Amino acid sequence: MVVPVPCVGELDYSRTLRSWWRTSRTIVNVEHDMEVSDELIQALLDCPHPFCTHAYTLFPVSTGKRAHYAQAASKPHIEDWIAAGVEWCAFTGIGFCKITPEARARRLGESTWQFVDLAVSAATDCPVHVHWPAVSHYHV
Ligand SMILES: [Zn+2]
Repeated sequence: MVVPVPCVGELDYSRTLRSWWRTSRTIVNVEHDMEVSDELIQALLDCPHPFCTHAYTLFPVSTGKRAHYAQAASKPHIEDWIAAGVEWCAFTGIGFCKITPEARARRLGESTWQFVDLAVSAATDCPVHVHWPAVSHYHV
């Protein structure tokens, strides 16, 4: 089932994800500016791990820092972005990820769209499996 979510209000993204969080469904979240295909989605669904992400890069706009992967080795203090090819991380951006019910350990808190990834991180405990090669993040 594909659920398109027009994110008009600040809380629309969070509220939609929250509405699926306590169901028995596996969530595959794909943000609007990510490279996506049936094959990329299937690769996540075929993987046995409960929380998986495709690697992708972030381009910090406001900080002026260099682009880095959206996955980090630790949380909640997210500073150590992973290097290419690292297979496991503690934190991931949620641009293109799979989250099974097993991975959803706690209630998902409500947040504005900029912080839904942090809310997901706070509501999950398991390590995140990173799929390579990185997918394109068009950042629009
Ligand atoms: Zn995986």
